[in-house]
Amino acid sequence: MGTENVLRNLQLVDGQMVDITIRDGIITAITPPGQAEGETGQDCSGLYVSSGWIDLHVHAVPDFDPYGDEIDEIGVKRGVTALVDAGSCGADRIGLFYKESLKAATQVFAFLNISRIGLERTDELSRLEWIDLPKAAEAVQAYPDFIVGLKARISQSVVKDSGIQPLKLARRLSEDTGLPLMVHIGSAPPAISEVLELLQPGDVITHYLNGKANNLFHTDGTPLQGLLDAAARGVHLDVGHGTASFSFRIAEQAKKSGIALNTISTDIYRGNRLNGPVYSMSDVLTKFLCLGYNLEEVIRAVTSNAAEWLGKKELAGIRVGQQANLTLFAVEAGEKRLRDSEGEVRVAHHYIEAKGVYTNGSLITC
Ligand code: ZN
Ligand code: ZN
Repeated sequence: MGTENVLRNLQLVDGQMVDITIRDGIITAITPPGQAEGETGQDCSGLYVSSGWIDLHVHAVPDFDPYGDEIDEIGVKRGVTALVDAGSCGADRIGLFYKESLKAATQVFAFLNISRIGLERTDELSRLEWIDLPKAAEAVQAYPDFIVGLKARISQSVVKDSGIQPLKLARRLSEDTGLPLMVHIGSAPPAISEVLELLQPGDVITHYLNGKANNLFHTDGTPLQGLLDAAARGVHLDVGHGTASFSFRIAEQAKKSGIALNTISTDIYRGNRLNGPVYSMSDVLTKFLCLGYNLEEVIRAVTSNAAEWLGKKELAGIRVGQQANLTLFAVEAGEKRLRDSEGEVRVAHHYIEAKGVYTNGSLITC
């Protein structure tokens, strides 16, 4: 006899009510409320359930400052069952990080920073000799299930005088390894048009809703043609909220322009978790509810959309026979003040709050 757990009276994001029976970590039944076998279980009335949230952009190496944090602190304790570290490590440290990540309850993947030093410094692409392509390619070969892409932070404070050259080298590494790029965008130079033209289908633009001068929208609020072209050819758009990269004004313009919502990620690390404006995945998701996206669209952006980009569809959906990988959350009625990276505030009248995750065969409360 293995262990059995029944989570009762949960609501799916489409409104349907269910009991979910889990045996030895596997979902064995999804039934209407009250119809699960057995007497035991947990009453989850008032809670929603989705497949486990996936955060595509975080900083999960604790000893890095400012861009670092504890894995489970930004993972399972915040409703996130799988996260992708966005380039904290380059080839020098990715092996150490991989070993550390295995100790966490949260599932971890990584973008390999194209700079071998990763975020040991915040100008990691300012010297081209730090971009060691053979060493990076070796790391990709050594950790094929862990490294899901290559990270290049292409903005002024990171590249300094290197201009667009680091992105060209990233492109070459992408061709050599077959891995897509995640490109951080921000202040110029390089100009955003130069960045956009180098991006290919499957690549990710993170911080696409940033409100800086070199962003993806004209001052009248219409999207740059380069953004529309990139989206049309299959470049993936990722939020990457962060301390400085999410603007309500830009997000409203993106919605009005019909730019599709692909993935919502936090770019969370200790500083913006403790002091805002990120705080948690729940808060970032709430911002998108507040923008007028419905609950299904918002949750899709941290479940199936992210799993699809990762090529790991098994991480999304709730099906019998599958590993139970679930996030339990509430949508509470009440006012919540939400601040963006520009200091602008919106007031939400409903907010999302992660309450727990079911992963690795047990329930962890948030
Ligand atoms: Zn960034
Ligand atoms: Zn980041």
